[in-house]
Amino acid sequence: MAKAGNVLGMDMQDLTKRILAGERRALARAITLVESGRDDHRAQALELLDGLKGHGREALRIGLSGTPGVGKSTFIEAFGCMLTARDLKVAVLAVDPSSARSGGSILGDKTRMERLSRDRNAFIRPSPSQSQLGGVARRTREAIELCEAAGFDVILIETVGVGQSETMVAEMADLFLLLLAPAGGDELQGVKRGIMEMADILLINKADGDLKPTAIRTCADYAGALRLLRKRPQDPSEFPKALTVSAVEENGLDQAWEEMTTLTNWRREHGHFSGRRAEQARFWFEAEVRDRLLAKLARDPVKSTLNALAQRVESGDLSPSVAAEALLRDI
Ligand code: GDP
Repeated sequence: MAKAGNVLGMDMQDLTKRILAGERRALARAITLVESGRDDHRAQALELLDGLKGHGREALRIGLSGTPGVGKSTFIEAFGCMLTARDLKVAVLAVDPSSARSGGSILGDKTRMERLSRDRNAFIRPSPSQSQLGGVARRTREAIELCEAAGFDVILIETVGVGQSETMVAEMADLFLLLLAPAGGDELQGVKRGIMEMADILLINKADGDLKPTAIRTCADYAGALRLLRKRPQDPSEFPKALTVSAVEENGLDQAWEEMTTLTNWRREHGHFSGRRAEQARFWFEAEVRDRLLAKLARDPVKSTLNALAQRVESGDLSPSVAAEALLRDI
């Protein structure tokens, strides 16, 4: 049997120290550990996360979403390099639940961010190839915690604009950005209201060359649409806002960063930054409890007890409520 504290060839106390010292290899191994589905690895992961708490570091967690082709990786590369040039340490995590279906990771291709992946102040972690949404949520949340403990200043969490992954990422991020392409009015309608409501800043990318006038028009259209959304009493009135950027020409990136900083500082000053983190922590705690209970129901011995009780309910021997009470008492 593996000695406690020494799975994956790692000692948890040593790993904790090395993560706090900002060692990238230690961080990468720790993320591999939290991604593992094995029970013994899980126990080690919890020990590690517990050992890391109270480090007092706080990164800015930025969620970024957009449909494939809109320019997410180009943007992250350019934006990430801009931040590292300002002496900020940047981690990039990818959330891609669809990879469970395709069997490979669309966002996992490091070559998409070649310049950033060579940058000493950047850390890029592709999404694991086999994952369900629940597992992706836990793995991403824990990876964020690890990156924060390792001293990263900015954590970018990238997700493709499909399914529930945006909601999930928004629940983990301090800021949520939506990257959009220049488009006609019809396509503007295609962006779901719920996603628009989640976004703090809309970035209309590809505002360069022939596309520039369309990008500017699209940006004005979105700005108009944002004004129709529910007001956010916790934010300055000009947010959420829409801006144009060009990831390729690296235009508008510093302005986008300024807006992010303005909004973050405002929230910090008014207690909304920590307030939101507290709400998110509670949300994930409850989600985790629900997930764990459901998993328990699906496993023996609870599963056999449930089936036995279900049969008695079907035959009229027990009332559903009495049977439920009997089961839950034992969980
Ligand atoms: P992703 O699928 O959202 O990650 O999109 P990519 O970053 O891979 O970009 C998709 C395509 O859009 C590529 O051909 C990029 O070169 C192009 N692209 C990305 N950003 C810009 C931009 O700012 N301007 C222009 N003109 N093209 C861009």
